[in-house]
Amino acid sequence: MSSTGLRVALLLVAALGRAGAGVGAEDSPHSHERGPGQGHWSYKDWQEWNLHYPDCGGMMQSPININTAKTIFSPQLRPIQLSGYSLPSKERLKLKNNGHTVVLKLPESLAITGGYAQQYRAVQLHLHWGSLTGPGSEHTINNHRFPAEIHVVHYNTKYDNFEEAMVHPDGLAVLGAFLQVGPRENPYYRQILEHLYTIQGEGEEVLVPGFNIAGLLPANLNLYFHYNGSLTTPACYQTVKWTIFNQTVQLSQDQISVLVTTLRGDDDSPLQNNFRRLQELHGRHVLASFQTALTSVKQLPPGSGGSPGRPPLGGAAGAKPSLAPRAGGDSSSEAGAEKHTSSFQAGDVLAVLFGVLFAVTALAFLLYIHKHRNQNARLDSPTKSKVIYTAATTDENAV
Ligand SMILES: [Zn+2]
Repeated sequence: MSSTGLRVALLLVAALGRAGAGVGAEDSPHSHERGPGQGHWSYKDWQEWNLHYPDCGGMMQSPININTAKTIFSPQLRPIQLSGYSLPSKERLKLKNNGHTVVLKLPESLAITGGYAQQYRAVQLHLHWGSLTGPGSEHTINNHRFPAEIHVVHYNTKYDNFEEAMVHPDGLAVLGAFLQVGPRENPYYRQILEHLYTIQGEGEEVLVPGFNIAGLLPANLNLYFHYNGSLTTPACYQTVKWTIFNQTVQLSQDQISVLVTTLRGDDDSPLQNNFRRLQELHGRHVLASFQTALTSVKQLPPGSGGSPGRPPLGGAAGAKPSLAPRAGGDSSSEAGAEKHTSSFQAGDVLAVLFGVLFAVTALAFLLYIHKHRNQNARLDSPTKSKVIYTAATTDENAV
């Protein structure tokens, strides 16, 4: 039953993916590297994006807010597996300020080998951030925006290259993770951040030594959200299968400050707030590789990014059994959770009633013992009488 519902949901998502495909334009962090000309856009004129890039006005756009209470648990979403991400330091990678973000070009040896139905090869990664006064992740979780977000862009190996892949509905896969402030400096992000001062101006680039790129992503690649969307910069191609990890990555406050204050954009002003505004779902569904827990979602303070130690965002694997699972199409979803809550309250009332009954019985028993104390003196140990007495008073206190 639940697996049938899930299949229907997946088919729906796939159908939406096909429906939104085929429209074309040009894009992305990658296309930024093609220099000016047709790619001259800015975050300030986002309202005009769709005039020059029709896909930007489409129905499957990114980023989106992920409402964890509405995600659909899909057991078919296996852990994301990466290969070739650990690069030797003798390898040199191009790090560039393209005027919109900082882009690290990745060798084609990096690949996603598990979690997606097909194989995807890495092209580049880049970041989105806010300013010293506001956060700048692109996606939000339950309307919470994180300080920054990393995107690792891949293309489907069934296409010859990124440019060919990006116009096909199954062409791209982007791994996204949220960056937030933690107690320590992050050594992996240092590999990028320590070079930013050498590429402050738009178009500047530097070669940096290779390192373990996987260190830029969360340790836990099992828990994630998945949906069909688009590139978040013009030409907004609707060809991205998004993976947004549930676990966050922590950087020190100093590192976040360096990220948001070092680079300059095209008009030589600080390169900040390079995130696109949220897009409508238009009926799309967001899948989750794990059972999101309504209770822990409610416990998330609206302004907080969670506690140190890479906290989960929307409940975690191994969630308490009392928390309602959201199996796809199953009736035991939100309604189930409410039912569970009310039955718990009814249980409380019953417990109190039984407590009173027990107290009365215990009192009667105490009277009986008192009456027969002389006869039973040798058997009635202090421990025994204490247990009976304690149980009765505890229940009376509970009432
Ligand atoms: Zn991006």
